Amino acid sequence: MVDTQLVPRGIRDEPVLLAMKKVQRHIFMPESTRSAAYEDRAVPIGEGQTISQPYMVAIMSELLELTGSEKVLEIGTGSGYQAAILGELAGDVYTIERVSALAESAGRTLESLGYKNVHVFAGDGTLGLEDKAPFDRIIITAAAPEIPAPLVNQLREGGILVVPVGERYSQVLLKGRKVRGEIVKESYTNCAFVPLIGEYGWKE
Ligand code: SAH
Repeated sequence: MVDTQLVPRGIRDEPVLLAMKKVQRHIFMPESTRSAAYEDRAVPIGEGQTISQPYMVAIMSELLELTGSEKVLEIGTGSGYQAAILGELAGDVYTIERVSALAESAGRTLESLGYKNVHVFAGDGTLGLEDKAPFDRIIITAAAPEIPAPLVNQLREGGILVVPVGERYSQVLLKGRKVRGEIVKESYTNCAFVPLIGEYGWKE
C-alpha cells in the first residue's frame, strides 16, 4: 500500500510513511470487508460510513505538519484508523464521532491496540470540544459546506486545519493556517468524503 499507492503519488513525509506501514488498516474494518483493506479506495464500515482512502489519510496527515507533540482534534472518528495514525505522529489526539455505535467500536479498537493518547468522544464535532481547546491542529475527515466557526475559534494562533470543503458529494481538500484570527487557505486535491452532518455542517 505504502510503496504502490502513497510514495508514487508524492507522499514524502517519512514519519507519515512509517506510521502507515505500522498501523494495519484491516484491524479497523468489519470482518466482511477486510479483504479490501489494502485497496486504493474508501471502504464501507457500516452505518452508511466509510474508512477513508489510504492516500487521503496520508496527504491529510502530511499537511498537518506534525512533529510529535501537538494536541490534535479530529472530527469524524469513523473506524478510528486516521486517529491511530495521528496517535503515532502527534502528542494527544481528541476525536469526535457523531454515530455513537462507531465511536464505541473505534474506541474499543484503539484501546486494544494500546493508544493511550487517543481520546474518543461521541457527539456533534462541528461544535468542537470547548473544554479541551485550544488545539494545535484540527482535521475534519467528513465533507464540510464551510469551515465550522467553532473550530476556527478552537484552533490556536499559528495552528493548522485540514478539511474537505465544497458540495455535499464533491470537495476540495483545504489546508488553513490561523493568522491573526483568520484562516489563510491553500487548496490541494479534489476529493469525495461523506457529509459532515451537524449544527455547523450539512443538515441531515
Ligand atoms: N477518519 C475516519 C473516516 C470516517 S468517514 C476513518 O479513519 O475511518 C467520516 C465520519 O464522520 C463518519 O463516521 C461520520 O459519521 C462522521 N461525522 C459526520 N458528521 C459528523 C459530525 N458533525 N461530528 C462527528 N462526526 C461526524
